Amino acid sequence: MDNFINAEGPFDCKIAFIGEAPGRDEVTQRRPFVGAAGVLFDNRLRTAGIIRKKCLINNVLKIRPQPNGNDVRPYLDLSKKYPIESDIYLEMVELLKEELTKCTANVFVAVGGTALWALCGLKAVSKRRGSILPCSLIPGRKVIPIIHPAAALRQYIFNHYIAFDLIKIKKESEFPEIRRPELGLDINLHPSDSLEYLDFILNKANFSIAFDIEVVNEEVSCISLSRMGFHAISIPFGKEDKVEDEAKIWLSIAKILERPDIKKIGQNLSFDSTFLFRKYGIRVTNIEDTMIAEAIINPDFPKALDFIVSIYTDEPYYKDDLKKYTKMQTDEETFWRYNAKDSAVCMTAMPKMHEDLDTLGNKEVYETQCRLIEPLVYMAERGIRADIDGLKSESIKISSEIETLQEDLNSVIGREININSPKQLKEYFYTEKGITPYKSRTGSNRGAITVDKHALKRLSKRDFKEAKIILRMRALSKIRSTYLEVKVSSDNRIRCSFNPVGGDGRLSSSTNIFGEGTNLQNWPHPMLIFLLADERYIIYNADLQQADSRVVAYISPEARMIEIFENNLDIHSIAASGIFNKEPSDITREPGDCPICEDPILCGHEGERFWGKKAGHGINYGLGFKQFAFLYEISEIDARKILSSYMRMFSGLETYHSWVQEQLRRDRSLRDCWGWNRRFMDRWGPELFKQAYSFIPRSTVSGKINRDGLLHIWDSSSLEKVELLNQVHDSVVFQIPLSAGWKYHVRAIKEIKKNLEKPIRWKGIEFVIPVGVKMGVNLREMTEIKEFTNVEIKETYDKISQ
Ligand code: URA
Repeated sequence: MDNFINAEGPFDCKIAFIGEAPGRDEVTQRRPFVGAAGVLFDNRLRTAGIIRKKCLINNVLKIRPQPNGNDVRPYLDLSKKYPIESDIYLEMVELLKEELTKCTANVFVAVGGTALWALCGLKAVSKRRGSILPCSLIPGRKVIPIIHPAAALRQYIFNHYIAFDLIKIKKESEFPEIRRPELGLDINLHPSDSLEYLDFILNKANFSIAFDIEVVNEEVSCISLSRMGFHAISIPFGKEDKVEDEAKIWLSIAKILERPDIKKIGQNLSFDSTFLFRKYGIRVTNIEDTMIAEAIINPDFPKALDFIVSIYTDEPYYKDDLKKYTKMQTDEETFWRYNAKDSAVCMTAMPKMHEDLDTLGNKEVYETQCRLIEPLVYMAERGIRADIDGLKSESIKISSEIETLQEDLNSVIGREININSPKQLKEYFYTEKGITPYKSRTGSNRGAITVDKHALKRLSKRDFKEAKIILRMRALSKIRSTYLEVKVSSDNRIRCSFNPVGGDGRLSSSTNIFGEGTNLQNWPHPMLIFLLADERYIIYNADLQQADSRVVAYISPEARMIEIFENNLDIHSIAASGIFNKEPSDITREPGDCPICEDPILCGHEGERFWGKKAGHGINYGLGFKQFAFLYEISEIDARKILSSYMRMFSGLETYHSWVQEQLRRDRSLRDCWGWNRRFMDRWGPELFKQAYSFIPRSTVSGKINRDGLLHIWDSSSLEKVELLNQVHDSVVFQIPLSAGWKYHVRAIKEIKKNLEKPIRWKGIEFVIPVGVKMGVNLREMTEIKEFTNVEIKETYDKISQ
């Protein structure tokens, strides 16, 4: 057969690669893996030190799929729950089996999902890549799946996954059997054995364990512990006949978790620790976290445990075991084994992650990030008092505004329309009104016809009043559902869950496991009025001022910027003065003063100063003029004018950008002011540079807030009465009781300010980010503190608390 592409390479080999099917180039050249995916494949082999000529290169299907060359679904449809296999597919798999039976390879590499199905009868190659699996097609043989190189052509980061897996494959190709050490997982132990296991730990000093809890119906259903890699136990709870034993077990567990000399290792322990504190009052100390380690070592890779396991252990993918349990709710033993496995793999992976942390010089950065978990657990549990009546009445007010807007909309359109139905909106604007459809310019929907925010903004600029109304209705609905109708705890506090690895060292927050709270760091400014200090407390906000820009100025270094900061001038007005050719003192700054847009009221931009500020952000984050124009809905000509005038004014930034590119060219990594050596793994080009330009400013600022703000407050014995509440943008939010006395308030806020203003060191220079402190009894109406005296604080409090 002409179009039949045979296997290539020796059958007497150590590694056999099995792909999906030949493409056009393969048919033309009559060889497998020679097209674009083949070139990528060859490059990855070379990097791993695997010689292609010494391997068998084969495919499951030996013909180019028909009728559409890249679509194998007519032969094998893996999208169905029970995949559909055609007769041709089955014949080809028979042939493959004959060939592989003759082949001596120690490893069959399933290149992509089709081969994984053919060789192992398993789906989901993206989850199973890197797993060492038994072959079901030829029992007794060993399979390791990798992501198909064609996928890596589309998503660059997959190149690295393939590279990692090929190194494992090379090692595994030296022997035929699956050698991984069997995990010893003890489940359902007799309570006396569990207690003995726990006692053993309690009798040790300076010991390390891993642990993990599983939560079902808001209770700990089981906990696993591991004292050494490859072994763990899982202790179940909720067995009625063992209540007394369980109490004893909990007591021992609490002692272990609270003992500062016992290290607790686990994945995403800020979750486990918050839950244990909330439900059982256990304060977990001395924490090490595989998720944090991964975020420091490989920030561009996934941080989930299944991925970490695939890189740092030989354990095959097992995370679907939990799904089996939650779906069927039957097999408890599988569930307990799953629970034990999580601890065993964390214990196995952690020492190897430490090696990588050491090699990169990132140990201190990692340990600092782990230390954040304790204050984050505290903040998550402390929560912020909410003005429940205020939230309710605002919600009612907004609902009635939405109703009125809906009536206005119906009357403009002439009938009822559902603003949440893209179908109805597309029909109205693009069919009835005959407007050329707008296409999405971002995300996975890029190129698709859309009625998203950007499309509606453009429509409203073209005088479609209805688009303006829809935009307003959408904004109000979002505020209502996300903030005003947020689930508040029964004690009227808003609690959320904090994530210590939100990106570039920042924190992030979200709804917690009880469905309470929301992202507490993005609360819209007007709604902050509903977040209150506790009765007879004052809330303070210590804010690093113009933090990112200052870091950019000093690390670039950009002389003019530095001068502006050193003289306490307003950088945004000065930048705007360059853009609009005016004196800084004449720069406008009010909403409705936008000099760029035709409708300055509607655009939502403020005056000229706004553009000075946004130009700085745009440049710091490497935005091109096209993206800038798109982001702020202005013409590309205006965007170019704004950005180039900023760049002309602060020409040192160009030197900084060139320096960053040079560093990346050297070893694709950058080190921030705290010593974090961050690797950049994405595709070489403008997007990578953009990420890199912003890394040092962002991580330096988040490091400052986390170390000299949150951790200092948490650790300092002189700040015991200071209660951490939140961390928002570049600030720390905390409250102090009135009962501490005015003197204490002043001393505490001075200490916090002083500590945050400790100089940052960078290449032999030192610079300070000044800190502004505000006080209030809610988070919106905050008054700036100027004198830092007892009298000022007392008088301000008297005023704001009336
Ligand atoms: N993709 C495959 O799966 N096999 C080839 O031979 C080429 C591309």
